[in-house]
Amino acid sequence: MRSTFYIPLIMGLLVQFSCKKSEPGEIKDYSVDQFADVEILRYEVPGFESLSLQQKTLIYYLNEAALQGRDILFDQNYRHNLLIRKVLETIYIHADVQRTTSDWKAFETYLKRVWVSNGIHHHYSTDKFIPGFSRDFFLEALGNIPADSLPLQTGETVGMLAEKLLPILFDPNVDAKRVNQKEGEDLIATSANNYYQGVTQSEVEAFYDALKNPNDPQPVSHGLNSRLVKEDGRIVEKVWKADGLYGSAIQAILFWLDKAEKVAENPQQTQVIHQLMDYYRTGDLKTFDDYCISWTQDTASLVDFVNGFTETYGDPMGMKASWESIVNFKNVEATKRTEIISSNAQWFEDHSPIDPTFKKETVKGVTAKVITATILGGDCYPTTPIGINLPNSNWIRRDYGSKSVTIENITEAYDAAAQGSGFSEEFIWDDAERKRIQTYGFLTDNLHTDLHECLGHGSGKLLPGVDPDALKAYGAPIEETRADLFGLYYLADPIMVELGLVPDMEAYKAQYYKYLMNGLLTQLTRIEPGNLIEQAHMRNRALITRWVLAKGKADNIVELRKRDDKTYVVVNDYEKLRNLFAQLLVEIQRIKSTGDFDAAKKLIESYAIQIDPVLHKEILDRYNALNLAPYKGFVNPVYTPVLDADGNIVDVHIRYDEDYTQQHLRYSRDYSTLPIWN
Ligand code: ZN
Repeated sequence: MRSTFYIPLIMGLLVQFSCKKSEPGEIKDYSVDQFADVEILRYEVPGFESLSLQQKTLIYYLNEAALQGRDILFDQNYRHNLLIRKVLETIYIHADVQRTTSDWKAFETYLKRVWVSNGIHHHYSTDKFIPGFSRDFFLEALGNIPADSLPLQTGETVGMLAEKLLPILFDPNVDAKRVNQKEGEDLIATSANNYYQGVTQSEVEAFYDALKNPNDPQPVSHGLNSRLVKEDGRIVEKVWKADGLYGSAIQAILFWLDKAEKVAENPQQTQVIHQLMDYYRTGDLKTFDDYCISWTQDTASLVDFVNGFTETYGDPMGMKASWESIVNFKNVEATKRTEIISSNAQWFEDHSPIDPTFKKETVKGVTAKVITATILGGDCYPTTPIGINLPNSNWIRRDYGSKSVTIENITEAYDAAAQGSGFSEEFIWDDAERKRIQTYGFLTDNLHTDLHECLGHGSGKLLPGVDPDALKAYGAPIEETRADLFGLYYLADPIMVELGLVPDMEAYKAQYYKYLMNGLLTQLTRIEPGNLIEQAHMRNRALITRWVLAKGKADNIVELRKRDDKTYVVVNDYEKLRNLFAQLLVEIQRIKSTGDFDAAKKLIESYAIQIDPVLHKEILDRYNALNLAPYKGFVNPVYTPVLDADGNIVDVHIRYDEDYTQQHLRYSRDYSTLPIWN
């Protein structure tokens, strides 16, 4: 599972509460590029230089393994993505065309968007985006390239290639959506992803229902690592493994994992890497579970990583996992914060305002740490989560727990890049709020995420006999609401000062204000005019903030106030605001614990979906005037091993000077591990 988009990614914050933040380093300009709806940032890897040579070497090998799977994700997202990327990059490098025209500019933007989305469908909405350049430009550019530079199949002419690609690129009705989740439609036939070929939704359901044994207490994740296809009338799984589908990419990953295994930090980590390699060789899902258990139990290593078929958001059936990788090491100083929270988990549960019958007698603390990412790969690149909680298997989580991480050098990059963006001047009511957010915002934002992840999701219990899926489609936003409210409630508790997590009782107000401003106003910048609020985390924020706005009306606790025709959030009483959060937490926990579907539906439908079109337009206009991009992506640092005369690694250097286009062209040159046609 991955955690929510970082809330302050659209905030303009000066970070001043620096005791929890790493020292400023080499990066002068965090913003690297901006196009369409994306801004590309750089992130720093503080502390890398002071790692041991063994740790640096291990990270270097794991980083290489993380880059070798890039092609897999492109192919998983859409069957023609690798061909399209190759054609576009060939045009970019070789085409003999005017490079100052609006067509060229639009072409550059399109190519950059394909890199951001790992394909031709938007990384977030999953809708296909249409080129801004003309068909004529495309044909002219293709025609100006020596045919032997183009990826042509035997016998194929440039004209045939163009004919094949034109509808794929330009016709909005061809493969329009990567992941379609509209109820009532065949979700397989109407989704353009490459997880299924030639099968219908009912065939998929029948195939996997036959594999499942409802009495198995430790079921494997059926379908996780394969494409399901119909061949000669038979339905077969093509497994992603060293001698199967994606074999050449997996072998390249194995090459580097093999080196990593030899420099692992300890026997437990050696076993983790070893089991992962076994799994990549065999594709055996039982071996994958063994690996997941070992990985969950490895809490002693400083260096850690994810490398594999992990999250299932790209499959409308929620079975097939996209390939991703992230390599990281523990931020020991910042992890003290999450350790304090985790080790007091029972105290937090006992003192929560919810009805005692819904409380857990014994809370299992979640292993939580703050990490520094060294590389982002696959589905974590270039857009990345800020927190990850794995493994996903329910029974492994139940029996062995899970690891929850917050990626703090990424959140630091968001904050650093937002400095001077004009956002806080535009949307925050006055200097007092701005100053408070400047002083405490980075800290309280991270703390809210920690409380949400380490404690919020794990607190409370269902009454006996209540179906965990009782809330159905309302389950996800209600669950996120519960975790967010748990965090909001405790941020303002004196315990936070006592535990040394915040310096004083002013700090929480920074997060309260930001949270309300985001939920009531600025998160609307992520939604197109005329659309509703759909995403679970956005619904949860709308529910909480609109509910407290409505319930606090009589006492004027929170209000939306106008100045010069602009709408602002004004908080008149922070203590009473906390009481409102507590009241709503009590009700949300009751809904969850008793499975009260009707109450969940009523809350979500009343507060979390509709948007006032006048307010929406105002927020979009103000936001657009700032020329800010609602989505962020990243470039990775460049790592270079320093070798002695015998070829041994004696150091690993890190650089932050590669730009976005250079990085992708280099990755395509050095890490193209799959054939273009398969
Ligand atoms: Zn959550």
